[in-house]
Amino acid sequence: MNQNSLYQQLRSHLAYLRLAAAAEALPAHLERAQKDKLTHTAFLEQLLAVEVTTSEQRRLAGRLRFASLPAPWRLEDFDFDAQPSLDRKLVEDLATMRFVEEAGNVLLVGPPGVGKTMLAVCLARRAAEAGYRVYFTTAAELVARCHRAAIEGRWATTMRFYAGPQLLVIDELGYLAMKSEAAAALFQVICQRYLKSSTILTTNRGIGPAWGQIFDDPMVAVAMLDRLLHRAAVLQIDGESYRMRAHRARVEHQRRSLRTPMPEDLLRDAGDLIGSGQNGEGEVAPPTH
Ligand code: ADP
Ligand code: MG
Repeated sequence: MNQNSLYQQLRSHLAYLRLAAAAEALPAHLERAQKDKLTHTAFLEQLLAVEVTTSEQRRLAGRLRFASLPAPWRLEDFDFDAQPSLDRKLVEDLATMRFVEEAGNVLLVGPPGVGKTMLAVCLARRAAEAGYRVYFTTAAELVARCHRAAIEGRWATTMRFYAGPQLLVIDELGYLAMKSEAAAALFQVICQRYLKSSTILTTNRGIGPAWGQIFDDPMVAVAMLDRLLHRAAVLQIDGESYRMRAHRARVEHQRRSLRTPMPEDLLRDAGDLIGSGQNGEGEVAPPTH
């Protein structure tokens, strides 16, 4: 077989094996191998590395699409200084993803705007990047979907769907009170994941009696908490709303830049100039008496 037909044969092997990225990179890699006198092993390793990288990127993109994260937030963007009450060490430990390996849960508790959703999204993204199957939903969305499923006779399929992800984020529990049917759906989702896979739950209700108010039946709250808290990390964020903080900073900035100079400001500025010897003539003003 001559060189050309050998090359064509190799291309068709790569196409048959669906190694499109390697096929595309083949001419350049062959040329480099010749130029740099690479061994067969080095050449093959480099060519297949191209395919592996492309495949990893494609899979990650697929996992992120499935995850349905509501924002592209990353942990690197989280401003820990703004939230001193938050246990940073614990967040960093969670970011290692050991909790997903151990099927542990995370509860993020705090008032609106303190970054609960952001932290949940950041951890979910980390998990997707680490290769785990992740899904993000809100409590209201989960309940609505289960309700539809019950009506349309797809209950079992829907329960399997929520059992599937290795990490499930349920955002915003507690903003709306739950009727018993909704609570039962959520309870079943939590139960079937218990000890098998991880759940991150965010809530504005403090853990304890306040949880009872979310559900019609306080026993459901107790039973759900019991499963969730077993092997759970609880992150309490008590600081002020990041949105309000940012808003206040903006208003303050505008107030400063819009303020028209008052006579006392002009006097102070003039005093500063005089004090620093910059009165226009490079001399300190003589005493007036
Ligand atoms: P919560 O879910 O607690 O109501 P969010 O996570 O939705 O709060 O945060 C509200 C907004 O403030 C978001 O835009 C989020 O990115 C931002 N934010 C909150 N906390 C922080 C923080 N510590 N660092 C950076 N951005 C933050
Ligand atoms: Mg939120």
